Amino acid sequence: MERPIDPPLPPDHRYVRDLDKTPANHVPLTPVAFLERNARVWPDRVAVRHGRLAITWAEFGQRARRLASALAARGVCRGDTVAIMAPNIPAMLEAHYAVPALGAVLNALNVRLDGEAIAFCLDHGAAKVLITDPEFAPAVRAALARTGRELLVVDIDDPEGPGGDRVGTIGYEALLAGGDPAYEWPGPVDEWDSLALLYTSGTTGNPKGVVYHHRGAYLNALGNALAFRLGHDSVYLWTLPMFHCNGWTYTWAVTAAGATHVCLRRVEPAAIFRAIRDHRVTHLCGAPIVLNLLVHAPAESKLAFDHVVDVATGGAAPPSAVIEAMEAMGFRVTHLYGLTESYGPAMLCAPQDGWESLPMTDRARLMARQGVAMPTLDRVQVADPSTGAPVPRDGATMGELMLRGNTIMKGYLANPDATAQAFAHGWFSTGDLAVWHPDGYVEIRDRSKDIIITGGENVSSLEVEECLYRHPSVMEAAVVARPDERWGETPCAFVTLKPGAPPVDAAEIIRWCRDRLAHFKAPKAVVFGPLPKTSTGKIQKYLLRDRARTPEGGAGRGL
Ligand code: ADP
Repeated sequence: MERPIDPPLPPDHRYVRDLDKTPANHVPLTPVAFLERNARVWPDRVAVRHGRLAITWAEFGQRARRLASALAARGVCRGDTVAIMAPNIPAMLEAHYAVPALGAVLNALNVRLDGEAIAFCLDHGAAKVLITDPEFAPAVRAALARTGRELLVVDIDDPEGPGGDRVGTIGYEALLAGGDPAYEWPGPVDEWDSLALLYTSGTTGNPKGVVYHHRGAYLNALGNALAFRLGHDSVYLWTLPMFHCNGWTYTWAVTAAGATHVCLRRVEPAAIFRAIRDHRVTHLCGAPIVLNLLVHAPAESKLAFDHVVDVATGGAAPPSAVIEAMEAMGFRVTHLYGLTESYGPAMLCAPQDGWESLPMTDRARLMARQGVAMPTLDRVQVADPSTGAPVPRDGATMGELMLRGNTIMKGYLANPDATAQAFAHGWFSTGDLAVWHPDGYVEIRDRSKDIIITGGENVSSLEVEECLYRHPSVMEAAVVARPDERWGETPCAFVTLKPGAPPVDAAEIIRWCRDRLAHFKAPKAVVFGPLPKTSTGKIQKYLLRDRARTPEGGAGRGL
């Protein structure tokens, strides 16, 4: 149901006249304010841990101010772009405050990009500065050779890093040393000002530049802190890349809560369990693949812990078997859904009273749904993509998931057609196909490009994967369409077996699925081996689709 929009009240209305916005009652919402507050409220508490380093809120604030003033002194102004290529280290966090505090825009780059893709981002985003970690020197050097831009390139000095070539003209610590720790940064003029630019992964064609504003980042950070129960005693481990939707806005949410950031250069199960034990980590986020990494970690690296560790997962559909295995290990799982365009998490599977007393398997199935809107999103709907009309809440009719509210991007940079298309019908169209359950919870069935159409019937690749993950020997699974002369397409499964699990063959996997799913949904071919993944932990289905067309994928074999 649409909300009616009334005309604004007249200027002489009693609730308008002499009741103006003033600096006393109206300041632009910005996540930069969270750092300013913590530096005042908890100057001596640890804000950031990184290896042996412990940085207090006062120091974090001063370092961010130094960075901002040094960038300003080198000509970075409101509306300029500053790119950064870094793993989850303090410099990355500092840039998340210093750059927006100047009214400039932070472009965090995916560290797995190659030279060509980095050059595209630098050129398209018109970056003035690139802050880069020596670990990525080869790709960055290639990018700098390609781009026609004059850039200030700053090399990060990280005592915990592996080192590497320096490609810039100044070191990060030297830059900060010349900065002013008490610099009064200007902040945004308006909360609609842009603060971040993020390129979508663009598996086909050029990536699109998603633009965030201060207001959205502020709200999404608060919504996520609330949804994930962050408080000032929380200790947040950085297992999610900060370049991915600004770490799903946890770069700001953790600060908003006054919690401690624990940096991590590499996502390895042993390091994660060690951090949980040594720093009493209470919260971490990761794609389902990261959870699976913890579930299947070697026994000697699985250190026991005696406190509650909250894990938020999203970025791809978590199979209920993975949720179940994590909960069995003592983690408390929160399921989040979102995309780059929605500042990361926009929905969560909010637990209802009574779920905790359900048998674990039933609870995990409920939790595997993408759920309901975050408190800071206006609304979600599942609708017919051609009309925008909502589908019935019957748990069966498929439609496109659409989002609306203050935590949706401003639009795509210099791409009005793509922006208009994304915002058709007054909603943001996610490109995800979903059903709406009678209890109002949304369940994604597939990305529109991943759905398999066999003999005219839709098969949700996620539904088949959910079934495969329940097989006792399966560690990971992905299902894609394979061209088929008779059926148009058929499901082809790619499966990684658990280490040490009893061997199984394709016939056994197919039988397992046929026993549990409608027969047309069961895979017709099964390929065993490791699955290709992105740096944000998503399985690269487009590569698997290509493989499924080859004889290895069973194409042409009439199984
Ligand atoms: P990329 O294109 O690099 O994957 P995004 O991070 O924006 O970029 O990916 C967003 C997509 O990830 C969503 O459109 C959806 O398909 C998928 N996704 C994210 N969270 C979930 C989830 N909890 N369940 C299922 N799919 C998810």
